[in-house]
Amino acid sequence: MSNPASSTDVLISEVGPRDGLQSVQATMPTDYKCRWIAALHAAGLREIEVCSFVPARLLPQMADAAEVVRHALTLPGLTVMALVPNAHGAKAALEAGVHKLTIPVSASAAHSLANVRKTREQMIDEVRAIVALRNEIAPAVRIEAGISTAFGCTLQGAVAEDDVVWLAAELIKAGADETGLSDTTGMANPAQVRRLFTRVRAEVGDKTGAAHMHNTRGLGLANCLAAYDVGVRTFDASLSGLGGCPYAPGASGNVVTEDLVFMFEAMGLKTGVNIEKLIAAREPLKAGLPGEPLYGMTPEAGVPKGFVQGAQHV
Ligand code: ZN
Repeated sequence: MSNPASSTDVLISEVGPRDGLQSVQATMPTDYKCRWIAALHAAGLREIEVCSFVPARLLPQMADAAEVVRHALTLPGLTVMALVPNAHGAKAALEAGVHKLTIPVSASAAHSLANVRKTREQMIDEVRAIVALRNEIAPAVRIEAGISTAFGCTLQGAVAEDDVVWLAAELIKAGADETGLSDTTGMANPAQVRRLFTRVRAEVGDKTGAAHMHNTRGLGLANCLAAYDVGVRTFDASLSGLGGCPYAPGASGNVVTEDLVFMFEAMGLKTGVNIEKLIAAREPLKAGLPGEPLYGMTPEAGVPKGFVQGAQHV
């Protein structure tokens, strides 16, 4: 099964400019953000979460969201995505012209209250309101509801799989076009990933969305592969593993885009991303966030001698 939207086998959705930049203390200047996003696009990435539309007093790193979107919209063939926590943010994102919205909805009742001060049921209502807004002002925009803390929660501990499957079904009923699963806290393991994505797919079918895995405990790639094995074809990742609230020194938060692209290409699967250009896209990131630790095994070790992208086992 290949990704019907393009000639690639898997879609790598780059989240660094949003997930990464909102997790670090420093604010990357707008022109560096634009250079970085252009470099990611030049490497072949065709879906980038470029910002979030949240109040600037809460996240000053995202104060230039509309300007970043305006720049990203000039890059040909790019799906410009933004995170929105509520209808207010969605309105601003739709007015800025994004192609896709992603709304985080927590499977953990405790995390939902702590994070957005809303119950899960209230968040389902919020998704319904955002869908209505989209239908009214920008019907072509796609809406993804990303289920956060799907594999465990630092506040609540275990999250019942039944809760995740219930939430996925409710979010699709509320009008979301797709729903993915996020390992927000880096607690997932491959057996759990296989089981939960299989159950969600049985519930919502082709509306099953991306796997958003973290590498907090070193299982990011294993979890992505587990998701691939049960039919997931869209994977969130962050260049150099930026962001994702790393808990352990030496471990990145988000799955590292460079390593994920290397894994799939080495398996003979086409990502559409050029690894050398992807590694080069670290330069504007380094320049815009001096001193920020960058992660990734592939950029450290280099691409193996004689490596041919997407052609190892075809
Ligand atoms: Zn993340």
